[in-house]
Amino acid sequence: MTTFAIRQYGDPVLKQRTKEIEEIDGSVAKLVADMIETMYDAPGVGLAANQVGVQRRLFVYDIGTGPQAVINPRIVETSGEWTYEEGCLSVRGLSWPIVRPDAVHLVGLDLDGNEMSLEADTLEGRCFQHELDHLDGILLLERLDEDQRREALSILRARTLSLPAGDPDGLGGLLHQPS
Ligand code: ZN
Repeated sequence: MTTFAIRQYGDPVLKQRTKEIEEIDGSVAKLVADMIETMYDAPGVGLAANQVGVQRRLFVYDIGTGPQAVINPRIVETSGEWTYEEGCLSVRGLSWPIVRPDAVHLVGLDLDGNEMSLEADTLEGRCFQHELDHLDGILLLERLDEDQRREALSILRARTLSLPAGDPDGLGGLLHQPS
């Protein structure tokens, strides 16, 4: 298995909406295996295909119950509200309390092409929403309130200006469970 470099904030691939997977073949299975390896290596609890530069609608996750892949995922229902300190493997070393729906109903396909229907809340529900955002070209920065966003952008700007290129983690690896 291979691990990928995880694309970082500023990479245009993170702002593009991914395309549906039309055929689930061996190349998709290989991609999933490599993405899972990359996620564990990071480490993180979720990883979307465009975070490794692949513009396809697919993410992997493991919130402690084993690795899973969801192909062509869609959220069909949300409810409640939950504030959680959320980080991202593509915005290293930073996290913010973000309010999102608590529970979600996610549908998609597994690697055998079978339909999946998952009801999830708290960490799993958050992970699904975060990964779906990635697949739609949305980073968590766009989920911040105005003050958080202003602060975040100034930190990220200072980071790209002053840190040596070899130190993307300049502010320290603060995150417990980025995705
Ligand atoms: Zn992320």
